[in-house]
Amino acid sequence: MHSIIKGKYFRQTETGWLVRNSGRMSNIWQGVRQVLHLLPDATMCQVKGGQQVLFWEDRWLQDRPPLSVFANNLPNEARRLTVSEMILNGDWNFDFLQAVLPKNLVMQIRLHPFPQGSDVDVPIWRFTPSGRFTLKTAYELTQVDAAVQPQPEPCWKAIWRTPSPQRTRSFLWLAAHQCLLTNAERSRKHLVPNATCPICRGGPETILHVIRDCPYARGVWSHFLAEEPNDLFFQSNLSSWIRYYVTGRSGVIDASLFAILCWKLWKNKNIQAFEKKLATMEEMIAAVTLYVQQVRWAFEGRAQSWEVIA
Ligand SMILES: [Zn+2]
Repeated sequence: MHSIIKGKYFRQTETGWLVRNSGRMSNIWQGVRQVLHLLPDATMCQVKGGQQVLFWEDRWLQDRPPLSVFANNLPNEARRLTVSEMILNGDWNFDFLQAVLPKNLVMQIRLHPFPQGSDVDVPIWRFTPSGRFTLKTAYELTQVDAAVQPQPEPCWKAIWRTPSPQRTRSFLWLAAHQCLLTNAERSRKHLVPNATCPICRGGPETILHVIRDCPYARGVWSHFLAEEPNDLFFQSNLSSWIRYYVTGRSGVIDASLFAILCWKLWKNKNIQAFEKKLATMEEMIAAVTLYVQQVRWAFEGRAQSWEVIA
């Protein structure tokens, strides 16, 4: 059956496959077309021998998008490593994994069935326990998809499009996925005696506290917010807040300013923690203003030889 559908509706070109979009289409094909755009999210790779699945680029860990976001600083060859190539002397290469991945992901990999032998890795359907594609679950998926139309764009897509340096985008991605270590998180794991924010000592140090709710962060944001309704700004939860501002829906805080200010506040917190030095709010505002200006010039191509320096 699949070769009939392939012959009738797909055409190979130099750049890939073209999908037929018009003319008479069978009911099955119409159904398949409806779920085509869902496939990247609806399928994942089941690791058997681990020799086909790419460790960073493919979706293979349960409930996780591809790990490529953590591979930004790796050389190209390392980004193309397969899962089996991450095995060293009969075990995962933990020294390497711990250096580049957050702890919870390293733990999840530790619990993942170990790739063994030379069996070929297989693509599986995520929505059935067996991993087999069924028309029923595909149909249900289209219904869920249709029910939430117009579907908001996934937050990470907007984050990656933000016209600001890579490090600020990577930071926002990690923040949106709660992959940053704070005192609140350390205290939950009994690594530190209390969760308090060392800057204001007025509440637990969560991600949102550091980049928005700490009085220090609030002071800096207030300078840039101008006439933006402040009370709304400080009310939403972390993911809605990031989503709203990276999609550029605010007329006052554009996506570059948003990404840069969040990142600077986080960096500032780390400097405070390790060097016991805290920039004044005025210094922070001046540094952010200058950096945003440089970034805007660079991204608008006004300064061709301009290099953005953090
Ligand atoms: Zn604080």
